[in-house]
Amino acid sequence: MAAALACTSDEAPPGSSGSAAGPNTVVLVSLDGFRWDYLDRGVTPNLDVLAGRGVRAEGLIPSFPTKTFPNHYTLVTGLVPDRHGIVANTMYDPVFDARFSLSDRDEVQDGRWWEGEPVWVTAERYGHPTAPLFWPGSEAEITGIRPSHWLPYDGRMSHVARVQWVLDLLDLPEADRPVFCTLYFAETDDVGHTAGPDSDEILTAIASVDDAVGLLIAGLETRDLLDRTNVVVVSDHGMISTSRKRVVFVDDYVDLAVANPVDWNPVLALWPAEEDMEDVYEALHDAHPELAIYLRDEIPDRLEYGSHRRTPPILGLAAPGWTITNHPYFDERPDRADGGNHGFDNAAKGMQGLFVAAGPAFRNGVRVPAFSNSHVYTLLMSALGLPAAPGTGDLAEVPGILVQ
Ligand SMILES: [Zn+2]
Repeated sequence: MAAALACTSDEAPPGSSGSAAGPNTVVLVSLDGFRWDYLDRGVTPNLDVLAGRGVRAEGLIPSFPTKTFPNHYTLVTGLVPDRHGIVANTMYDPVFDARFSLSDRDEVQDGRWWEGEPVWVTAERYGHPTAPLFWPGSEAEITGIRPSHWLPYDGRMSHVARVQWVLDLLDLPEADRPVFCTLYFAETDDVGHTAGPDSDEILTAIASVDDAVGLLIAGLETRDLLDRTNVVVVSDHGMISTSRKRVVFVDDYVDLAVANPVDWNPVLALWPAEEDMEDVYEALHDAHPELAIYLRDEIPDRLEYGSHRRTPPILGLAAPGWTITNHPYFDERPDRADGGNHGFDNAAKGMQGLFVAAGPAFRNGVRVPAFSNSHVYTLLMSALGLPAAPGTGDLAEVPGILVQ
């Protein structure tokens, strides 16, 4: 890929079509919480066609914690959360002395939280316009660079309008056309949480996001862009059924004011004062058989978590299917916890997500074993013909996917 370093803004990057028509486009689509086996429910005609002419993985193994923001940012940086800094959806940074949460627009749009270099920043540095719609990180200026096109997150924007936003940008003249676009659909996650991954309701949600993929494909076909577009459909994590009968109450064991939870469920992030650290740990350690409690340096290596300063000094993790809460919160919300959740150990099969990709960079009609979502970035960069950032993995680790 060294030759790519010579790439300048007015020439197609190596690895792309390199023709007068310019580089191939990548459209990355996220179907939030789309579990690996939803493809086998018989309600995904559009994804089935896409898989038939491209590559389907048996699963996409999320990074820990199996939460939305950490994994979306892993997908576009090639770094696990412990390395890119979005270590949770809700987190505390002891240097900034600040909290980050999904609903805090000021923090979400503040580039200081987002480490590593996402795909769109690299592409923009090479002079290629990008259009990441609603992708975590796309609202922030990262290393001084913003995508050419983006919007602040608006959950009310319809699926049709989101697809149309991308298609309108692909209608731009060649020089202005984005080489990297993203789409995001939350419905499978929303319904997975409220109704569970084995409900009838989830089938409607799966069919709905599949329709959105179909709209995109039809729009590309109409524009005669399908042969030049790599469509990569992923999810950030799966979903596991939860129940109000499988609950750990943290306030049965510690004073919450002392334990100082920053995040709750199913990953418990505790930031007690230094002098209370040992007492809090001892009170919770071995307190409940379905709640693992670790000091930061005790976290199992396979989770690749615990070195970033934003990882909590005491980490709790519920067994798959269990809920961590406290009595007041639980009692006030009788409709919660009977449904589904994610965030659990990424070794749990139910946490695996989706990978289906088709287009000129991808092999035709192949099925590959499940692989880690930290490798998706390398595939995207290769499809774009752009150099991957150092330390972000190797294409050799995901063989059989790309046309070589
Ligand atoms: Zn999610």
